[in-house]
Amino acid sequence: MKRSVAIIGGGLCGLTSAIRLAEKGHQVHLYEAAPALGGRTRSFYDATVNEWVDNGPHLLIGAYKATHKLLEGVGAGVNITWQQSLKLSLWDEQRGHFSLAPSPYLPFPLALMAALYRLPGHGADSLLSLLRIHRSLKGADTASVKAWMVAENISDILQRDLIEPLCLGVMNEPMESADCKSFASVLRVAFSNHDHARLGWFNKPLSEALIRPLEQRLESLGGSIHIRTTIRSIEQADDTCLLHTGQNELGPYQHVLIALPAYARNRLLGIDEPVKTSPITNVHLWFENDIPLPDALVGGIGTRGQWYFNVSSQMGRSGTQHICAVISAEKAGNKAEMIQNICEELAKLSGIETVQPVHSKIVTEQHATVLVADHRRMNTGMIIDASEAPLSGDFPATIEAAVLRGEEAAQSLCFQ
Ligand SMILES: Cc1cc2nc3c(=O)[nH]c(=O)nc-3n(C[C@H](O)[C@H](O)[C@H](O)COP(=O)(O)OP(=O)(O)OC[C@H]3O[C@@H](n4cnc5c(N)ncnc54)[C@H](O)[C@@H]3O)c2cc1C
Repeated sequence: MKRSVAIIGGGLCGLTSAIRLAEKGHQVHLYEAAPALGGRTRSFYDATVNEWVDNGPHLLIGAYKATHKLLEGVGAGVNITWQQSLKLSLWDEQRGHFSLAPSPYLPFPLALMAALYRLPGHGADSLLSLLRIHRSLKGADTASVKAWMVAENISDILQRDLIEPLCLGVMNEPMESADCKSFASVLRVAFSNHDHARLGWFNKPLSEALIRPLEQRLESLGGSIHIRTTIRSIEQADDTCLLHTGQNELGPYQHVLIALPAYARNRLLGIDEPVKTSPITNVHLWFENDIPLPDALVGGIGTRGQWYFNVSSQMGRSGTQHICAVISAEKAGNKAEMIQNICEELAKLSGIETVQPVHSKIVTEQHATVLVADHRRMNTGMIIDASEAPLSGDFPATIEAAVLRGEEAAQSLCFQ
């Protein structure tokens, strides 16, 4: 039976569900509050450098199969550059540059162990620690990632070089508070084979690489898209729903699919329940002179900027060099001080005495990710709740989790 469905939220989750439902012939109406689709994966135009800039660079791993399939399906798979096999470039002040690069010619677990053994400062102790992590992956159920590391007696250097950066990168939360089961589920999937472990990044701004192809696909399927439309409440009457914007009443619809972060869903449904989120701050810097970095992405250990993205090289752009430093789980404080810190770190990373940007832009997303908690789902049959509300053990708030929520919500509606 073909149905009319309203989708609230035009981020990746809403777009995915809208496409899947429209493909099944349902009549889809997508409502987005902002002036453009994309949500947390969006770009803005920076007139000073005449470039589209992402709110923050997004990193993918090969294990993001749902995202990969979705993008391939709309002809946008080529917009991601994938590593042939995992190479994690790292830097710290004592050891300089080094990288974790498991050999693609060995089975992954063996290759990872050999690569780890070769890292400066590591050795048999790290291997034993890695084996203990591997052995406890399935049953990991401590209060936090840190508690897991302590319980398994994981060496300090392995925690510092690998676990801490990965935890901040995927969970957007420090080891001391991040959910152990969710982090273990990421490790289990990401480190299962070479294909899953490799990294990928967009080679165009997010709006062009990701959002526009999805939008075009939805339009070609006859879905209707309404931007600048904030839905304030949902009214259920008999077997239909109406949406209210404050000025207008929209509908009736047979189903409403909520594709929002949990705090926005709570606001919409009038639920007075706090939702914990974590920020991400991106420090975008542009340079006239070349800042040499060994790879398109470098992880800093013991640095304020945790990941340094060479955006120009990722996007194949020449001219002014764009580097973005990502600071997970931190809001922008004093902006001048933050830029100075990042420039000092970049000077050390690149071996250049002083680095002086010609332009800078700091973007803080206050609610970059909804943290793992004992969230509720608000499904009623007519209302399908695909909100970002990760439970312990779920994949954390990522691109892949957003796509999967969209896929699952569309499927559950089709089965009703
Ligand atoms: C800076 C940053 C860096 C990140 N880096 C990575 C990364 O490297 N790798 C990774 O996998 N993930 C990363 N993420 C996470 C990833 O971007 C998100 O998990 C994902 O985009 C969430 O998509 P979504 O559709 O669930 O939510 P959103 O993108 O938040 O979409 C929800 C949409 O709903 C709209 N909306 C809200 N309320 C209403 C309303 N009442 N009516 C109508 N519309 C409404 C919003 O405007 C928004 O467009 C990052 C996030 C940020 C912010």
